[in-house]
Amino acid sequence: MECGMRIYLLGTNAILLMLIDSHCHLASHQFDPSEWDELVARASQAKVYGMVSLATCMDDIESNLTIADTYPQVGVCLGMHPCDVHHAPDDATSVIEPLMAGPHVVGIGETGLDYYHPAPEHWEENAFRQRQRDFLEQHFLLAKRCGLGVVIHTRDRSGCQSFDDAMEIYQRHATEVRALFHCFIGTYENACRVLDLGGLVSFGGVSTFKSARNVLEVAKNLPRESFLLETDAPYLAPVPFRGQRNEPAFVHHTAVCIAAARGESLSSLTEHCGRATLKFFPKMLPKITHSMV
Ligand SMILES: [Zn+2]
Repeated sequence: MECGMRIYLLGTNAILLMLIDSHCHLASHQFDPSEWDELVARASQAKVYGMVSLATCMDDIESNLTIADTYPQVGVCLGMHPCDVHHAPDDATSVIEPLMAGPHVVGIGETGLDYYHPAPEHWEENAFRQRQRDFLEQHFLLAKRCGLGVVIHTRDRSGCQSFDDAMEIYQRHATEVRALFHCFIGTYENACRVLDLGGLVSFGGVSTFKSARNVLEVAKNLPRESFLLETDAPYLAPVPFRGQRNEPAFVHHTAVCIAAARGESLSSLTEHCGRATLKFFPKMLPKITHSMV
C-alpha cells in the first residue's frame, strides 16, 4: 500500500482517504486510446485512485468496457445521454440490460433531460423532450431490475424545468432506486429535494469558477456524505485549467476548492465524498481497494 494511505474498516464499509472521479468520459473521442495509460497514471499521481467512466450512446459502450477491463480502478455506467436519444433504438435499455451484471458496470447513465441544446434536425422540440423523458423512465425501470443507481444530467437555458421534470420521474421510483444528479449547479433547496428522496448530487469544475459562486455556496452548506466529486472530463475543466481539456487528475483542484470553502481539510472532504461515492456505487469498492494495494 502506498505510504500515507489508510483504510479504515467501519462495519462493511472501507473508507479510503483517496479521491474518486465519480463522473468522466474516458471513451470520449477527445481521448485517444494511446493516451489512456498516461491519463490513468496522471490520475494516480494526483491520488485519484477510482474513476467512473460513463457511456453516452450505444457506440461508446464497448470502449468503456475495454477501458474498465484494462484498468482495475475504472468502473463504468451504461446508458443513453439525453442528447443522443434520437440515435438510440426504442428498446435501448433492454438491449444493454444483459451487460449490467458484469463486474465493471457500477451504475446506469448517463441519462437525463437536456432542454438546453436545440432539438436535432427533423425533430420538433416537444417531441424530442418527450423522448428524453421516456428514456429517463426506461433507465429507472432498468435500474429497478438491476439494483443499480441512475446518473442524471439536467440542463436548461434558464430556470430549472429539466430538473423539475427529472425530479417528477425520480419521485415515482425513489423508494426503489437511488439517483445521482451530476454536475449539480442548482439551488440549495433543489439539492435538498434530491437528498430528501434518498438521492445524491455531485460537483465538478464549475464549483471552482468565480462566475458560479452560488454552486460553491451550495457545496459549502450540504451535509457530509451527501455529495460526490467529479470532473465530467473531457468537459468543464476546473480552475486553473478552465477552457482546456479536462481529465480525472484535475478532480484534485475541485476538491481543494470545495474543502477550503467548507473550512475542512482535504482529507476530511475526501473521506466523506468517498463514503458517498461507495454508497451510490457499491460495485466500485473492489476496484478502489484493488488499486490501493
Ligand atoms: Zn457527463
